[in-house]
Amino acid sequence: MSQIAETSEAAFATALLDALYGSAPVGLGLWDRDLRYVRVNEALAAINERPQEDHVGRTLAEVVPQLAHVLEPIARRVLETRTPVVGLEMASGTPKHPDDERFWVASYYPVIGPDGEATGVGCIVEEVTERKRAQQRTELQHTVSRVLAEAETIESAVPGVLQTIVDTIGWEIATFWSTDPEEPRVIRTKPGIVLEGFIATTERSLLSPELLPGIVARDGATVWLSELDPDSFGRAAVAAAEGLRAGVAFPVTIEHEIVGVIETFSAVPRPHDPDLERTFIAIGAQLGQFVRRKRAEEERHQLLEREQEAREHAEAAVTTLRKLARVSEVALQHLSLADLLSALLDRLVEVLDADEAAILMVGDDGALHYRATVGLDDLLSTAVPIPLGEGMAGRVAATRKSLLIPDLNQIELKSPTLRKRGINSIVAIPLVVEDRVIGVVHAGSEAFAQFAEEDVRLLELIADRIALAINQASLHDAERIATERLRFLGEASTLLAASLDVDETLEQLAALLVTRYADWVAIHLAQRDGPARLVTIAHRDLEKARNAMAVVSGTSPAPDAVAGVGAVIRTGEAELYRDIPPDLLEGATADAGIHSCLIVPLVGRDSTLGAISLAWSTTDARYDDRDLEFTVDIGRRAGVAVDNVQLYRAAEERSQASRVLASVGDGVFLVDRHGYVRTWNRAATTATGLAEEAVVDRLALEAIPGWNAIVGRVPIVAAGSGAPRAESLPLDLGRREAWLSIHGVVVPDGIVYAFRDLTEERALETMRTEFVSTVSHELRTPLAAIYGAAMTLRRSDVVLDDEQRATLLDVVSGEADRLARTVNDILWASRLDTDSLHVNIQSCDPAALAHEVVQAQRAHLDRGHEIALTLAPALPLVTGDPDKVGRVLINLVDNAVKYSPDGGTVDVNVEPVGSHVRFSIADHGIGIPPAEQRRIFEKFYRLDPNMTRGVGGTGLGLYICRELVRRMEGRIWVDSEGLGRGSTFHVELPFAASS
Ligand code: ADP
Repeated sequence: MSQIAETSEAAFATALLDALYGSAPVGLGLWDRDLRYVRVNEALAAINERPQEDHVGRTLAEVVPQLAHVLEPIARRVLETRTPVVGLEMASGTPKHPDDERFWVASYYPVIGPDGEATGVGCIVEEVTERKRAQQRTELQHTVSRVLAEAETIESAVPGVLQTIVDTIGWEIATFWSTDPEEPRVIRTKPGIVLEGFIATTERSLLSPELLPGIVARDGATVWLSELDPDSFGRAAVAAAEGLRAGVAFPVTIEHEIVGVIETFSAVPRPHDPDLERTFIAIGAQLGQFVRRKRAEEERHQLLEREQEAREHAEAAVTTLRKLARVSEVALQHLSLADLLSALLDRLVEVLDADEAAILMVGDDGALHYRATVGLDDLLSTAVPIPLGEGMAGRVAATRKSLLIPDLNQIELKSPTLRKRGINSIVAIPLVVEDRVIGVVHAGSEAFAQFAEEDVRLLELIADRIALAINQASLHDAERIATERLRFLGEASTLLAASLDVDETLEQLAALLVTRYADWVAIHLAQRDGPARLVTIAHRDLEKARNAMAVVSGTSPAPDAVAGVGAVIRTGEAELYRDIPPDLLEGATADAGIHSCLIVPLVGRDSTLGAISLAWSTTDARYDDRDLEFTVDIGRRAGVAVDNVQLYRAAEERSQASRVLASVGDGVFLVDRHGYVRTWNRAATTATGLAEEAVVDRLALEAIPGWNAIVGRVPIVAAGSGAPRAESLPLDLGRREAWLSIHGVVVPDGIVYAFRDLTEERALETMRTEFVSTVSHELRTPLAAIYGAAMTLRRSDVVLDDEQRATLLDVVSGEADRLARTVNDILWASRLDTDSLHVNIQSCDPAALAHEVVQAQRAHLDRGHEIALTLAPALPLVTGDPDKVGRVLINLVDNAVKYSPDGGTVDVNVEPVGSHVRFSIADHGIGIPPAEQRRIFEKFYRLDPNMTRGVGGTGLGLYICRELVRRMEGRIWVDSEGLGRGSTFHVELPFAASS
């Protein structure tokens, strides 16, 4: 070939090469043996990020410092071995962006010179970043799909996905945040990466909008942070400190619901890569799908499981219901509470296959007490009250939580009962009504772990029913008991009021009490001196009661005892022994098996009168506060009854005494030690005119006028020292004087005075004395005159002329007349007194009678006296005894003359008045004070008994007049305006029938 041809051929080749270099889509470069750039094409210059012309003559280390350490050895080896290196994959940043990872595929060829020596190295560099990334995305996608396909559960899928992210795209860490705050973070890192701080922070943080995933969870949109700003989100500072440079977070969604967020961080900045972002979104959706599927599966599974469980439950429920029904049957029957509880427990033991069951109820003391038991009965005496919060039952009640104890030895028990019974496992449930714990029910077994959770549930159901039933029954019971007690109180009250025999009453009360409220009843009565007396012991079995009475009656309760009957009587405080520890009892009470008792006082008005004791022995009943209250009430009523009987007795005695006193004719009164009058009988009132109420409970010295003057003179004797000699003493009652024959007897309460009223007797006596002196005078005076006249007439030595003789004879006849009249008066009066005076009633002429009397009286008139008679015309006849009428008129005219010592006219007037004829005899004499006008008609009554005015008389005249007029059915009275004013006596007699 020619030179020219050769030269042009070379030029052509070079031109071709240049054209190739220029247009090749791959980077082409040529280094000389010193590995300096000889030539680069446009593409490689672009890859190396410097102008083409800047390459020639520069070394590898100058142009691509970040790759020099990789490329130089390769290039040298190619030079030396003249063997190309083909398809070398490289990843690195670019010179200007060393962090911007890119991918290349490079091949290195030796450039062989004409001498067969390698004169340089040519390189073909192709950037495959895009391809590589697409590849990664595909792999990521693919792997995720595989992971999800293989994963059984969400729990294994999530870490797989995260691991795939870090493995396939080479990011440092990937984290899954569930939107369920309960779920922990799931974190995967690239092997060998240390991000302790960031991981710790991530694990601690909550999914809040402060954080990158929080924003995503809120907004649902992917966030791509190509370059982390340490202030951008909560953990950014920590992330940056540990070398993380970029981060992406994308949601995991099921349909539109975000169930979680995956975030991944890279140690190099990651410019926004929409393709990768799409892949992430796809992964999020894919994982979401998976979650949904798994959830659905899980749900289906759970549904199946639930179904299965439900079926099992239903079967169990049927059994439970059947068991429950057995219990409910009992609960629904209207039994008494006690019966109900024991029936419930029987069923409970049966359905739970237990060895014991018990119901404990919260008592008034706030502690739990055994109320009903099955299988524990022999040991109940060992039971103690269980305070809430203590022991097994106390804890159940306090916490209101059921307790299942497989081994009773593991816990502390308050009451030894269960251990003694050998119970090893137990189930206990609180009894709650209306949010109130009323007790605990438990069932126990000798076997360990006898009960299971389902027994707890069954017992809980049963407990609800028990609680309800108890509540209803106890309401019902309370009502029934209250009614019963009221009825009993009524009965007791009737009984207590019925008898006046205290012992009999109390015996009946005891008998009544044992019918319902006790097995044993004893009643003691306090005695004034010495210990209380046992009145009665009652038991339903009379034989037992009699025996007990025989045993106990000899003993008496010690009055100074600290407890028991003696103490109750002494203090008046009731005593309640809910449970008597058996070792406290001895002798008869122990034999009787008494286990609960109460003692209440018999409360009297001012003291405790005795005590009632009640005890249970055979039944397992216990006394409680309500029983105590009830029995105290009975004690109070019985006390009142005893008191009443005693008061009645006392009153009876007093009233008997006062009846006796009342009937006594003598005045009797008691003056107590303090000088007060305490009794005052009727006779005392009659004698003194002082009413009982005016005297009793007042000081004798004030209440009884004149007492002061005589009290010192009343003879006093001690009781029982024989009949005292009474003293007659005048009691100046103010208005009058009463004569008392009085003495006193000293009694414990004071002095009893007894007196007889002598006033009347004394007045009669006085009258009699006066009468005797008057009559003597009345008889002696005329007798003396007659005697004198007669003696003078008989004298022989005295010569009397006729006139003198006549005068003397007149004296004799006149005085004899007066004498006869006086004697007559006495005779008439005595005949009137003895009712032996015969009155002969007939018609008589009042005018004639008056005329006759006036005529007769005129004959005796002294000088200075006149009698004038005025007769009304045509006077009708009157009925009367003419003799007696005459007698009356004579008396009246006689008195009129007699009591007109200064003389004057006596007017006798006769006139008809109505159906009567009235005789009026008026004088102008001494007159009669109005106060005396009634009394002058009394026997022996004389206005002037001492005859100071010298007028004599027997005081019988007007008495005789009154009695005669009365017998003739007439009236007699006097009018006088007082002393010195004259008097007018009136007598009226009825008209005779014929007139
Ligand atoms: P005597 O006249 O015997 O005393 P009487 O029974 O006749 O007894 O009278 C009783 C008393 O009545 C008299 O004592 C006298 O005081 C009083 N008396 C009776 N008639 C009159 C009279 N006409 N005027 C005043 N006093 C009289």
